[in-house]
Formats: sequence, C-alpha cells, structure tokens
Amino acid sequence: MEKEKIPYKIYLEESEMPTAWYNVRADMKKKPAPLLNPGTGKPLTAAELSHVFCDELVAQELNDTDRYIPIPQEIRDFYKMYRPSPLVRAYCLEQKMGTPAKIYYKFEGNNTSGSHKLNSAIAQAYYAKKQGLVGVTTETGAGQWGTALSMACSYFGLDCKVYMVKVSYEQKPFRREVMRTYGASVTPSPSMETEVGRRINKEFPGTNGSLGCAISEAVEAATTREGYRYVLGSVLSQVLLHQSVIGLETKAALDKYGIKPDVIIGCAGGGSNLGGLISPFMGEKLRGEADYRFVAVEPASCPSLTRGRYVYDFCDTGKVCPLAKMYTLGSGFMPSPNHAGGLRYHGMSSILSELYDEGLMEAVSVGQTDVFAAAEYFARVEGILPAPESAHAIKVAMDEAEKCRLTGEEKTIVFGLTGTGYFDMVAYQKFHDGQMTDYVPTDEEIAKSLASAPQI
Ligand SMILES: *Cc1c(COP(=O)(O)O)cnc(C)c1O
Repeated sequence: MEKEKIPYKIYLEESEMPTAWYNVRADMKKKPAPLLNPGTGKPLTAAELSHVFCDELVAQELNDTDRYIPIPQEIRDFYKMYRPSPLVRAYCLEQKMGTPAKIYYKFEGNNTSGSHKLNSAIAQAYYAKKQGLVGVTTETGAGQWGTALSMACSYFGLDCKVYMVKVSYEQKPFRREVMRTYGASVTPSPSMETEVGRRINKEFPGTNGSLGCAISEAVEAATTREGYRYVLGSVLSQVLLHQSVIGLETKAALDKYGIKPDVIIGCAGGGSNLGGLISPFMGEKLRGEADYRFVAVEPASCPSLTRGRYVYDFCDTGKVCPLAKMYTLGSGFMPSPNHAGGLRYHGMSSILSELYDEGLMEAVSVGQTDVFAAAEYFARVEGILPAPESAHAIKVAMDEAEKCRLTGEEKTIVFGLTGTGYFDMVAYQKFHDGQMTDYVPTDEEIAKSLASAPQI
C-alpha cells in the first residue's frame, strides 16, 4: 500500500471499540499454573481469594476457559473519554532512521494518569463499587498505577488508599499530589501503620522501600478493614484481561488497512501492557491462524525473564500474598538504587511466563543509558516525551528497524508506547548530566535472592 493511504494516526470510531475483553488463557493449551495458598501449598479457591479481591475479579482471575468476557457498559462509557487510543505510523522515525521498516506504535499516554494503567483501574474500581465496597487499597512504585486508580475511584466514589514506595514518595511529590487531587490518601511505604510495615522497618532500618513491600502493606490494610479489598495494577491475569483492549484496538486498526505485523514489541514490568497488546495476536498464533514474533523488553538491571527462574515464588516481600509460578528473581530482589527506568518488579505475569517458557514469545534485556538515548531520539523525531518504561520498547523497535536498514527488509514493526514521561524528568536529568550508570546484577546476587523462593 502507498504511503498516502495509511494515515499518520489510525483512529477507530467509537462504534468500532471492543465490547468484550479477550482472555488469551482460553486458547492456551497449557494453562498458566494456578496461584497457591502459601500456607497449604494448594491452589487457592475462589472463597479464599475473595478475602483479598472483589468477587467478580476473583472469577476473572480463575477463568481459564471463556475466550471473551463482556465489558460492562459503564466501563465502556468511561473508556470513551480517552479511547480509542491512536495507532500511530512513525513515518518521521522511519525517515530519520532511513529504514525500510514500517513502524507503528499504540499510544496509551493520552489520559491524565499518563499510561495504560487506567484501562484496568477503571474496571477494578467498577467491580468494587458494584459489590458495594467502601474502598480499595493498593501499592504504587513510580506512581502511575496509584494515579490511575485514584482517578478511577473518584469516578465511582470509592475510597482509595495508596502505599507508595518511600523513595518515589520523596522523589516524586508531583505524582503524589495528582493522586491527592483525585482524593486518594497516600502513605510512604514501609509505614508504621501496618504490622508488616513495622516489621520491615525494624528489619531494614532506613530502607527506601520496594514494590514488594508496599504490596504487603496494601494487602494487610485491605484484609484488616471492613468493606475494603486489595487491587493490583499488573502481573495478575485479570489485569492482562482488561489490558487486552489495547491489543483488540490495535488489531482492529491494522485490519482496517490490511496490515499484518511481523513483530510486536512491548516493555515488560509485570507484563500487563505487553500481555494486553499481544493477546489477540497470540490467540491467532495459538490457534494456528497466523504467525508473529513477540518480544518482551526488560531492564538489564531487573531481568526476570532473561535471567530469572520459572518457579513458584512470593508476589511480595512480606510473603503474605499467594504464590505464583512465574519467571522471578526472588521476592527479595531489589534493583540497584540508580536504576531509573521503572519495570522493577521481581516477577512476571504467569500468562507471559508460560508463553515465554513454551517458546511462543522472546525476551531481551536492555541497559538504561541505551534506553534513555532511544527515548531522547524518539522525543525529538516523533514529538512525544516517552515514559522510561515505554522507552524500553522504543529501543528494541529501533534496533529491529536498524536491522531492516542493513538488510533492506520491509518488516512491519508494532510496539506499545505505554505512556508519557513528564514525571520522570529527574531520570532524564541524570541521563543528560552523564550521571546515569548501567548496573547489571551479578549471577551471585540473583542466585542469592532466588534462594528465598519456596521449594515447591
Ligand atoms: C506500569 C507501567 C509499565 C509496566 O507495567 P506492565 O504491567 O509491565 O505493563 C510500562 N509503562 C508504563 C508507562 C507504566 O506506567
């Protein structure tokens, strides 16, 4: 197809937006391993999970069989405020790089939370409201998830308690204030408000906190309060389900112009945006209808897929959460303090872990200075200032496009541009000032942190 025919931005009509989420587990021959009760080592039942999560979300978490799950009208109406998100043809980037590759990105940064996380936050808040709950608790690292959830909770009139990793709480005051603008209460973690927070503070005095530790606190806060449940912004299968809206829209937009991607690339922290983006395409691959390459991109400083082990592990530092089988670096793993690019969770979605283990998806890790160099290059040619997380995908998409320049291949590359980086300017500053380093954990460090995984 000629250049004029494919617009810079492919938008869908409201009427073309998905009306059901796609559940890739339904098409997986080998299902992701079940969550286990850390006490008994047995698969968790819906009744056990319902102490932590809303009933409807428990049902979605355990649903390995229904291919499509209808999106309630209220959620679809909220989606319409900022969706469909554009699929952008990166003509400027292609031209600047001199590559024959055709590059597309799905841009999820067009809402105040600045990322794709709102897609799941609104769904989780909706089900909490429907169940008649008072509020929800959660953790947030860099702050995107907390922001998305506070927006969703204010929309449905729910209380929102956010435990924010202490170092981010101190370094990202603006994120914190956005959450408070939407009515959330924000507590630095580890705090002295919870049993587990007090224990972690005692064991590691002066700790900066971690995502795993904030999760433990948020779970405790939910399970010890009447009318509260815990919600999580990534990793869980229900979150990947909600994020399938990204992939469904991408596929609908590509189909409109008869475009078939060769490779689909996404950054992977807990795996939700990547899982959501690739799901419908992976479904075709699983059913033998089409073939695609899928690439997960992770930071070299937190390389769960490329250097972790596929075992049952705790989802949180405090070891209060269910056990999940996933590629993990060990629940005590903490990326080096100078790691600035996000994606710092020690584990990975069990859906993506299983797909990767079966060789259906590839994974690569990239160093953070290369990531920021790609982010800056992209910002200058495509105009969007990317989140550092998103820039991991940009970096590998550009690497693929460069290979095409060398070989002359006209591959079609699609990647997920998950969000904007306005709250990450301290990290950009470090990069500009030449103060950013690439710390990569040693095999010994990873082995040491993996030793804490339960023997199952
Ligand atoms: C949270 C976040 C990610 C990583 O989370 P996943 O669950 O792996 O998608 C990536 N990009 C942005 C902008 C984020 O906020």
